[in-house]
Amino acid sequence: MDEVPTSEIIPALLPPGVSPALERRFVELEDFVHSRRPKEDLRILRNAFEFGADRHSRQRRMSGELYMFHPVEVAMILAGMQMDLACLSTALLHDVLEDTDATFEEIRRLFGEEVARCVNGVTKLSKINLASREDRQAESVRKMLLAMVEDIRVIVVKLADRLHNMRTLGSMPRDKQERISSETIELYAPIAHRLGMGKLRSELEDLAFRYLDPAAFEEVKSAIETKRQASEQVLEAIRNTVQKKLSAEGIPARVEGRVKRPWSVYQKLFKQKITIDEVYDLLGIRIITDSVRNCYAALGEIHNEWHPIPGRIKDFIAIPRPNLYQSLHTSVMGPGGVAFEVQIRTEEMHRVAEDGIAAHWKYKEGKKGPGEDDQRVKWLRQLVEWQKETRDPAEFMSSLKVDLYPEEVYCFTPKGRIVVLPRDATPVDFAYAIHTDVGHCCTGSKVNGRMVPLKHHLRNGDIVEIITQKGSSPSRDWMAFVKTARARNKIRHVINATEREKAVDLGQKLMERDARRLGVSLSRITRQQMEKVAADYGVSKIEDLYAALGWGKYSARQVLSKLAPGIVEPEAPAAPPASPTDGRVPADDKDYVIQVKGIDDLLTYRARCCNPIRGEPIVGYITRGKGVAVHSRTCPNVQNLMYEAERRIEVEWAKGPGESFNVRLVVHSDDRTGLLNQLTQILFGEEVNIRSVEARADEKLLDAAVVEMTVEVRDKKQLERLVSTMRRVPGVRDIERVH
Ligand code: MN
Repeated sequence: MDEVPTSEIIPALLPPGVSPALERRFVELEDFVHSRRPKEDLRILRNAFEFGADRHSRQRRMSGELYMFHPVEVAMILAGMQMDLACLSTALLHDVLEDTDATFEEIRRLFGEEVARCVNGVTKLSKINLASREDRQAESVRKMLLAMVEDIRVIVVKLADRLHNMRTLGSMPRDKQERISSETIELYAPIAHRLGMGKLRSELEDLAFRYLDPAAFEEVKSAIETKRQASEQVLEAIRNTVQKKLSAEGIPARVEGRVKRPWSVYQKLFKQKITIDEVYDLLGIRIITDSVRNCYAALGEIHNEWHPIPGRIKDFIAIPRPNLYQSLHTSVMGPGGVAFEVQIRTEEMHRVAEDGIAAHWKYKEGKKGPGEDDQRVKWLRQLVEWQKETRDPAEFMSSLKVDLYPEEVYCFTPKGRIVVLPRDATPVDFAYAIHTDVGHCCTGSKVNGRMVPLKHHLRNGDIVEIITQKGSSPSRDWMAFVKTARARNKIRHVINATEREKAVDLGQKLMERDARRLGVSLSRITRQQMEKVAADYGVSKIEDLYAALGWGKYSARQVLSKLAPGIVEPEAPAAPPASPTDGRVPADDKDYVIQVKGIDDLLTYRARCCNPIRGEPIVGYITRGKGVAVHSRTCPNVQNLMYEAERRIEVEWAKGPGESFNVRLVVHSDDRTGLLNQLTQILFGEEVNIRSVEARADEKLLDAAVVEMTVEVRDKKQLERLVSTMRRVPGVRDIERVH
């Protein structure tokens, strides 16, 4: 800000309630606004300032300074966003209705309808008590939203007011600091975010963070600072390189260095459970250019110079964020292995990124703020419309939060505890969020009282109940659908450990089987001999050798030929191993109902491709470390898989207890009421458990319906009986079993 000559200020001539320092600050404001809006008459600001100063003259802030400093600073913040004069006047007057004897009529007479209405709006907002129970809070938020919709400037002033209060929070007592800070982070920052006011939002968040958790704040701040200092020269070099490259290509650009803010770093560390070294966008540069075309051109130049980190390129120009934020983001590996983020945008995008909805006032001079069709205005209206229909305050609150943070879902435990998860999270994520053991032992889940598959996407407001079973363990399948890093890490950990155990077990059994077949007596082989051969394969322990056999790295025959040279011939080089398992793992341990002929308790599992059930002819295939895959003999994959004769193995159904098998059926039928009921009655009659059932109209055929169900059957016989009974139901056209 320009220094203003202040020598002419003579205290005696100052208006009532105005100190020389206050006058100086106001003149700075005037000069700043004048520099941006040279043609506008600023008398309204002077009038509002003097009116405010007079009415607030007997009030002081906690810091001891004149109260009027506060409205002037709020106006200053708004001037920085280039808000219009009505908005700045509102800022200067924003507390007079509440804290002084000034009236609405008076303000309307002196400053006009527009300003009076805005001041009134801000005053209404201030009276809202936000530090209350959730239901009262919901009502407060509702009022706040209504005020916002009436005139967006009301909320913009309120946000600036909050920002200045946060900046000066230091003189408040500790309990107030905490209350105001949590309100800021829970309500004001999200609203600023939703309105696209990125700059104001991050300052609010960092200020609140500092009061809410001073220790964490300092820690994160100094960690960032250390990283920044360590990479300062590299970053400077990068900036220079970029600047040179771009100007060589004729791309006009401003290149700025940027450092991620403490609160957002903290969120990242906390949510993703990573260390500061893994935050790829901690340090970065921002390229601001003139056109969208040059944004993409600059991105190309960056990727020519440095390797992009996969998965980190984001095109928010083509697909803007819900708050209309636009930019290209990429992270690249810079010199010396320093990862840094590059954001590329146009000047206009930059302004929108910084000031969001407030950016409209700068661009459309003469136009009164954002139009009706602005996405953010639409969002507000929608929210207000929507809340009218919502009678339950908790529901409203949770919907509001979801709308404020579209990337999150809020779910509840049956006891009402809130669990915040990323969008598209599943019951497994939920289970791990509750407790690691709940995750490990989770076998099913009910959402709002209904059974759902574990990969079901949770929605906002869902009440999630996790069904656990002692001794059950995570499945590798879960990895494909879990959304939280926490769940993924926990699952991987268990799987790695159990898979190794299984591989060791399988490897040992394969050794024993082949030894028997090839006439080698393992009991004659000493431990030392074994260890020596293990060392030949580059592992130190016999167990590791077994594991390698179990994983399918080497064949048992190969190892035996080394252990008993002369008895076992080394085999001819094998055909490239098929990979029939596609990384699959035994579904669960209870599949021991299948027996490998001649060997007890060798690990088996039913192949997912054909999912054979008891009674069907089956064949086994030794997979890489995952045990024996059991396919139906009619499975089309079998022919392709079985070319490695060594891996083929005879299996049979054991006469085990009555395990059940999941079978997926699709029933094609007439679209008539009562049919679904009849089908389920048949299932009940057969005492078949239904895992899921879903009926819908057939998209391809008129008057036809499709019922998809997963049922638990004991064996092939029961399935056949079931299908033939269901086929007799009038209206059923066809039933197929799908895999
Ligand atoms: Mn205020």
